[in-house]
Amino acid sequence: MVGDVPVGGGAPITIQSMTITKTADHEATLQQIYGLAAAGCDIVRCTCNEPEAAEGLARIVPRSPVPIIADIHHQYRRALEALEAGVHGLRLNPGNIRKPEHIKTVAREAKDRGIPIRIGVNGGSLDPALYDKYGGKVTPEAMVESALQEIAYFEEVDFDLIKISVKASSVPLMIEAYRQLSEVTDHPLHLGVTEAGPPPTGTLKATAGIATLLAEGIGDTIRYSLTADPVEEAKAGRQLLEAMGLRERKNVDLIACPSCGRAEVDVYTVAQDAMTAFGEREIPLQVAVMGCVVNGPGEARDADLGIAAGNKRGHLFVKGQNVMVVPEDEMVDTLVEWAEFIHEHGADAALEKAKATKDAARKAAQEDRDRNLGERGEDANESEAVIAEIRRSEG
Ligand code: SF4
Repeated sequence: MVGDVPVGGGAPITIQSMTITKTADHEATLQQIYGLAAAGCDIVRCTCNEPEAAEGLARIVPRSPVPIIADIHHQYRRALEALEAGVHGLRLNPGNIRKPEHIKTVAREAKDRGIPIRIGVNGGSLDPALYDKYGGKVTPEAMVESALQEIAYFEEVDFDLIKISVKASSVPLMIEAYRQLSEVTDHPLHLGVTEAGPPPTGTLKATAGIATLLAEGIGDTIRYSLTADPVEEAKAGRQLLEAMGLRERKNVDLIACPSCGRAEVDVYTVAQDAMTAFGEREIPLQVAVMGCVVNGPGEARDADLGIAAGNKRGHLFVKGQNVMVVPEDEMVDTLVEWAEFIHEHGADAALEKAKATKDAARKAAQEDRDRNLGERGEDANESEAVIAEIRRSEG
């Protein structure tokens, strides 16, 4: 447990992030923590790099909506002060707190208070002795050995409230390090690609590493380390876990067709406008934006709600059933309005509400479908010509 949040042992995967304010500035830090919690962050880490930061933690912890972990580098005394401040967890970097007696002192104090510690091995700050031992480079084996050394110190004082991370900025390196670590320990693992950089590349790198491991059943808690507002880290973490079905959906899952020769609207713009309109509204529904009424309602029949374009109008459908027709420039507003209604009252109530408009909507959709097929034919994407070319080159 990190405060009241379970980590490991089959608990839902949790999302972490880190404040970038000075921890001594407790009001600014709390403001950032509230922003992170609102974005779906379960646990927040704050640096504890100076005595004033520990004092800041004493003010932050009682007012924080989520558990707080103190990040400790170099000075083991900061760990003791953070424990005194009431933090719910510590993160120690074995690469820069190396004296066994210091590590054990912190572990003893954490044990007395029942506070967990993350062993945060970082490829960029590996213990120089291990770096030398593994041929002057950071290897997965060296990172795992660093973690195991630290565990051994903790075991000497009978402390086992441990989480471990073996982060690196190289995705293949961190994936291999976590795979090896998962073979030798049952402690919960905290996943991350360190210094991933600014979005979108940083987000992509972090996703590649974290998602690969989660898909293999490795990992219990995650952090995106982005060069961006920490709220972006929390959002990315939540989106990944929702996309992988590892956390309950909080926001809209917007799906959209890729558009093709049959599209009757600029799907990219409508989808983007819909994303903006749904924004931070917590509506956990799947909503579809489809470029044509010929295939849209069928392709997105599993969505809770969707809209398909046809002849300058939008055909709204609920669970694949046409419910009403709106002018093209009202497509996005209508989607949001109906999504809110379904979220509050359910899809059956929405179908009931559409009782008076359903028949006309179905008829209008059929008209636009026929018109589209009439104008563009059965083969709007000219696939047959391409297939004929393939067959010619095969022959
Ligand atoms: S057929 Fe219609 S719904 Fe499917 S990709 Fe093309 S425009 Fe979109």
